[in-house]
Amino acid sequence: MAELEGLEFGKSDFVLLDEVNMEQFMENLKLRFEKARIYTFIGEVVVSVNPYKQMDIYGKEAIDAYRGRELYENPPHLYAVADAAYKAMKRRAKDTCIVISGESGAGKTEASKYIMQYIAAITNPSQRAEVESVKNVLLKSNCVLEAFGNAKTNRNDNSSRFGKYMDINFNFNGDPTGGHINNYLLEKVRLLRGGSEEMLGSLHLQNDPVNYVYTREGAASTFYNTRIMNCVSATPQGNLQFETDSESVQVVGSEAVSDIAGLTTTEPDNVTKSLLYRTVATGGGEVIEKGHTEKEACFGRDAFAKALYERLFCWIVARINAVIEVKDYNPVLHGKNTVIGVLDIYGFEIFDNNSFEQFCINYCNEKLQQLFIELILRQEQDEYQREGITWQHIDYFNNQIIVDLVEQPHKGIISVLDEACLTVGKVTDTICLESMDAKLGQHPHYTSRKLTPSDKTMEFHRDFRIRHYAGDVTYSVEGFLDKNKDPLFQDFKRLMYNSSNPVLKEMWPDGQLSITEVTKRPLTAATLFKNSIVALVDKLGCKEPYYVRCIKPNEMKSPVLFDDARCQHQVAYLGLLENVRVRRAGFAYRQPYARFLQRYKMTCEYTWPNHLMETDREAVEAIVTQHGFQDDVAYGHTKLFVRTPRSLFTLEQERAALI
Ligand code: ADP
Ligand code: MG
Repeated sequence: MAELEGLEFGKSDFVLLDEVNMEQFMENLKLRFEKARIYTFIGEVVVSVNPYKQMDIYGKEAIDAYRGRELYENPPHLYAVADAAYKAMKRRAKDTCIVISGESGAGKTEASKYIMQYIAAITNPSQRAEVESVKNVLLKSNCVLEAFGNAKTNRNDNSSRFGKYMDINFNFNGDPTGGHINNYLLEKVRLLRGGSEEMLGSLHLQNDPVNYVYTREGAASTFYNTRIMNCVSATPQGNLQFETDSESVQVVGSEAVSDIAGLTTTEPDNVTKSLLYRTVATGGGEVIEKGHTEKEACFGRDAFAKALYERLFCWIVARINAVIEVKDYNPVLHGKNTVIGVLDIYGFEIFDNNSFEQFCINYCNEKLQQLFIELILRQEQDEYQREGITWQHIDYFNNQIIVDLVEQPHKGIISVLDEACLTVGKVTDTICLESMDAKLGQHPHYTSRKLTPSDKTMEFHRDFRIRHYAGDVTYSVEGFLDKNKDPLFQDFKRLMYNSSNPVLKEMWPDGQLSITEVTKRPLTAATLFKNSIVALVDKLGCKEPYYVRCIKPNEMKSPVLFDDARCQHQVAYLGLLENVRVRRAGFAYRQPYARFLQRYKMTCEYTWPNHLMETDREAVEAIVTQHGFQDDVAYGHTKLFVRTPRSLFTLEQERAALI
């Protein structure tokens, strides 16, 4: 709980609200935003509202003010959280992580940059050159990845939608030694239309990739790389069309094909063939070439473009990792290697029309919430134990039931989806929904419905609804199956594997499989995503977590507009009220005796100006008793625990009246 700030700026910790309800929460959030207080705590969680203007709160002075201090000694700030994570890591040799979530444009990436900058600023006081260079590379690698998102965003308002997790490794000195990035690609790509022709003509993948991603001009060459990627991705959809004449499908014009062949160093004839035919193994083991219909050709082209983009992206992340990974770390020489993880990931998402992507994102958030509950409760329990306080049961909603609804083997939604994708023959989204109904119809968090046909289409529109921990979300089942399948024909993989560009070849190792070898079905998109999220949660689970929740105040990028409805929506879907409740369920507030005394000693005759008791604890007891809230506290070995914020509030008011 932050102090040092007057109440005219609202309450600096939501835990201090008189009552936990949406109205009070929003009132406080808005007031603080209007007073340019963009950060507010919920206990150790920081809620951040994007100010959409430069704030003078990130300078050296601010860094010095937060460095090595306790959370509640300063106003809420990202630095407070960054410092808490760093301190826990350094003092207790604990791995920690900072989870930053929120919707697109809420300020996640900016927050992760400020956090990295803070950590860079407070480490390596002796300015050792090798540590400085590691810090530099780490900070820059962040920019490199952003360059992709941004390059795309400039051309297309829908930015790339991936979560990013970065581990920063530290030696026993608390100095950074390296890092590792994982990316979680949610929606492979929103295709970019039409790269200009001269650009297409002039860009080629170089033969020596390592040179050009990680030279000193890393960022610039990555921009170059991004353009290649964009062009390659853009080419098929923008310039490549099909036509059907006398029953066979053709590519319109030859230029687009030679562009692709040129950019990927493949033979134009092979490109054409991959675009128009698919190799299939017949039941008898015979291999034949089957011509696409025009629709299939379009589908293949789009899948190819997406896959190119995705693999190039993953390849670049792998190159970055090769550069930043910790090398030659010897625990005997360097001591225990500890880690701070920074996760920059989408929060709960609900649109007017929610599809497979929202389903994945929201599932991910259920998992993170589950982890949050587990870890926060564990943290509380640990602290109570350390302090010798009797364990208090904390009442909260456990969302494991929703996690199970999605991921349980054989019964969960993902499993039903996968089954439908593996079924030979025509399985439609609707049929898939029916089998979901059959398996999950009784589940308390699942419902589905059939909407009457609208006037325009005579088709039944079907959707299902999940009661998420943060609220209800209705998903339209349309397109779920296609998005879940690996849509890329083996022919494209083989085409890329046979490129004479070694980089491309390296990106497509599965292209060497012949058609008879790929009968084993590839993992579906949902299962791959689930596996990566399970791995992520495992990684986070053994770390001490810190949280930053970002809110976008309006759609106009305005620094003065607080859109109540939009903000309330985000507060709901970030589960912030639940967050406050969990936090208040146990002891809302705790503070070491000496600090408590320091702050409130003037409110009690026995402690002002100095107490004559044997211990600080006794002095604190005197203050508590004098104000009559002895039933609202517990005395730990080193700290006072206060159950409800109200007690503290009385104290705070009295103090304010005296100074
Ligand atoms: P996200 O990663 O959540 O999509 P960003 O971090 O990229 O969002 O923020 C979007 C934009 O909002 C930034 O480009 C910047 O202009 C503005 N912004 C975000 N956070 C801040 C901040 N703390 N101070 C000033 N501007 C910010
Ligand atoms: Mg971002």
